[in-house]
Amino acid sequence: MKTKLSKYVHQFLTGLASLLVSGVFLFSGFVKVADPMGMVHKLYAYAVALELPLADDSLWLKLGAASLGIAELVLGIYLLVQMHPRFTKMALLLFMSVFTALTAWIYVASPVADCGCFGEAVILTNGETLVKNIILLVAIIYLIYSPTHPRRLISQRNAWLVSIYTWIYSIALTLYSFHYLPIIEFTPYKVGADIRAAFEGKAGEGEAEKLVNFYLSDPQTGEDRTFEFLADTGYTFLLTVPHTQTADDGCCDRINDLHDYCTEHRLPFYMATASDSAGISDWGDRTGAAYPVVYAENTELKAMVRSNPGLLLLHNGKVAGKWSNNDLPELDTPGARIEDWMPHHHTSPLGRLLLWFVVPLLCFILADSLWIGHKFYRHHIYIKRFKLKKIMRKKIVAGNWKMNKNLQEGVALAKELNEALTADKPNCDVVICTPFIHLASVANVIDSNLIGLGAENCADKVSGAYTGEVSAEMVKSTGANYVILGHSERRAYYHETPEILKEKVNLALENNLEVIFCIGEVLEEREAGKQNEVVKAQLEGSLFDLTAEQFAHIVLAYEPVWAIGTGKTATAEQAEEMHAFIRATIAEKFGAEAAENVSILYGGSCKPNNAKEIFSKVNVDGGLIGGAALKVADFKGIIDAWKA
Ligand code: PEP
Repeated sequence: MKTKLSKYVHQFLTGLASLLVSGVFLFSGFVKVADPMGMVHKLYAYAVALELPLADDSLWLKLGAASLGIAELVLGIYLLVQMHPRFTKMALLLFMSVFTALTAWIYVASPVADCGCFGEAVILTNGETLVKNIILLVAIIYLIYSPTHPRRLISQRNAWLVSIYTWIYSIALTLYSFHYLPIIEFTPYKVGADIRAAFEGKAGEGEAEKLVNFYLSDPQTGEDRTFEFLADTGYTFLLTVPHTQTADDGCCDRINDLHDYCTEHRLPFYMATASDSAGISDWGDRTGAAYPVVYAENTELKAMVRSNPGLLLLHNGKVAGKWSNNDLPELDTPGARIEDWMPHHHTSPLGRLLLWFVVPLLCFILADSLWIGHKFYRHHIYIKRFKLKKIMRKKIVAGNWKMNKNLQEGVALAKELNEALTADKPNCDVVICTPFIHLASVANVIDSNLIGLGAENCADKVSGAYTGEVSAEMVKSTGANYVILGHSERRAYYHETPEILKEKVNLALENNLEVIFCIGEVLEEREAGKQNEVVKAQLEGSLFDLTAEQFAHIVLAYEPVWAIGTGKTATAEQAEEMHAFIRATIAEKFGAEAAENVSILYGGSCKPNNAKEIFSKVNVDGGLIGGAALKVADFKGIIDAWKA
């Protein structure tokens, strides 16, 4: 009861932590890829505070802003869809460790007013940012150590589609927003913003209030000209150039054409800049500019249009339009009105953003669910057809004592198990595989009709000068009938190759031992989606030279190495998926009958509380049990999982 409760608590907390971290990363990534220039301006503030010799439009700052946004968006999605979970969690840990340390420094030293983690979308104080980062860091550490995994939104097989789409989307959106303007406007200077109303105290609260920072003055006299511009009921063009030195002059011909057009149509056209008189005359020399100039605040100019130069259109004290220098209005259409220059979109920027990201994402998830649903349907039919076959297949619970228990302890354990099973008969075959030295003694204290006996290994040689080895014939002579071969611990620590195992299997079968043959992938292989390939190679390497008659004496044990002795069990679905694959592989090689008859056991942290769910799967015929086989109560609990 207590373990079940703690399982639910962990499941809840894991889901919550995963949603929190992925949600924050997605939001923060979106803000940056939608408005990368905003992030460049933030990074520039850091560069100034750290006295780094970087210009405000430096390529390094642009690369930094783009990489940050893309990395956050991709990590957020990876966590949400559980793509490469170990890599993702480690990358998140690294990311948040660096940024938490950075924000701790910002909190103490205050080099910038706000750290800019959510761009202009949500402004947090440095203290709030530090608290937010600590919470995220704790959530990520919890996700790394949590015994449960968050629920997948999309199957492992199809998650790559979401991953590729996220990469393409985030890179394309970043490049688009750099080239044109942010797809969502986070600054107060949105098209439609009423600057005059802000000055009159009628703009409402929040963002709009900040419009009072709009300020234009005469560069020579310093005279405030803000109201002159805001009071004008017609159209006024402002060419916003925060810094003439770093401004892109590649579009100067089009700007001059626009200025000529405005002169011809009696429309005011000004350049608003924060540069000094030298910078202004330098701009005139470079571009042949003949338009009048007003002075404006650097930070406000950067907020007005995310482009240097950019174009802002004021009308009746409001922001009527804005353009990047890469997308200046077309003057070629004869008779076109200014209103026709405005970009026309039928959906809001947020709508477009959702349309291009959330909708495809939902489509992927839906298609994936339908695909899975189809598979479940086929599986359902399969279950109906083969349930009967499962009932006929041998159900086995086998214990693997490994290198535990001395002789006396081992004999006592075997006796106790024998008594328990005599009193309460099992519904399946029970086998215990013990160290070699226990075999003969254990054989004497168990009822062979109730409990099968097996070794944990045997030699790959028949007999002779192989000091320390125990042959298959010797195993058989103790009264044992089974032998475990190919256990991952022997593959890893004693370098047992598929060829050595093939020899062992042949010798075991020649000596009339039933072989419990173990296969399974390590964590890296599963994370790389290679588990099927690995397991198939293990089967091919050691068993595929057998005849169908010989194969009838093989019991397979699928033991994902990442689940052995770790407390992390494969889910019943993961076990079933792999067991079905193994059975299909056996069918291809040895035929449908052999595949239907072979018992496939699951091994890896199998316990009384999870055995029933795992054994309920149609292709799971029992378990190979390590740790839990060393206590009669636990082992019997697993054996009893076969009872109704
Ligand atoms: C094993 O080693 O075969 C095994 C399944 O171990 P455990 O049950 O302890 O994970």
